[in-house]
Amino acid sequence: APQIGVLALQGAFREHKRLLETQGAQVREVRLPHQLEGLSGLILPGGESTTIGNLMVEYNLIPAIQDFHASGGVVFGTCAGAILLARTIHGTPPQFGAQPSLDLMDITVKRNAFGRQVDSFRTPLEVSGFKTPFPAVFIRAPIIEAVGEEVEVLSRHQGQIVLARSGRLLAGSFHPELTGDPRIHELFLKMSLEARRA
Ligand code: GLN
Repeated sequence: APQIGVLALQGAFREHKRLLETQGAQVREVRLPHQLEGLSGLILPGGESTTIGNLMVEYNLIPAIQDFHASGGVVFGTCAGAILLARTIHGTPPQFGAQPSLDLMDITVKRNAFGRQVDSFRTPLEVSGFKTPFPAVFIRAPIIEAVGEEVEVLSRHQGQIVLARSGRLLAGSFHPELTGDPRIHELFLKMSLEARRA
């Protein structure tokens, strides 16, 4: 079984862990750099990206996760996690100070992009390679405003990019762990197995 880590500093990490376990993965909660050892993939969960980012800085996880990726690890960021993967982040309120980021993926994200009226909603999403729509939950979600040339767009909602892949990186605006549909996690596990073989 693939060994998968879920960053467990804040946010929806338990739900990811549960879903991955139903898919046969061995899952470890990651709070410190040494806990990345031996993993094939890592999920950065949704939550509050400034809070998670500040905790990542405090526990020295920024360089550790960058090294994990550089040495062949797969990283999947969901919602706040996608923000933390991004090269460029828009929409962090100035009073929050500098927004820490892993700066791993050539995407630009805009935080809380769906406006106050619709802070949270559920919608069926067309996803590249899926035969039927994926039930996606958006919670104060970011959008991916722009992507670099090597980034493959896998899904859009109302024209806005909400799921994208680039090499061993996957980023999604929504919460794929909340609806019980395992297909996005299966894609991530497949990427993790392939990376480990390479
Ligand atoms: N609004 C949060 C942020 O900008 C993300 C929300 C989420 O992860 N569900 O960090």
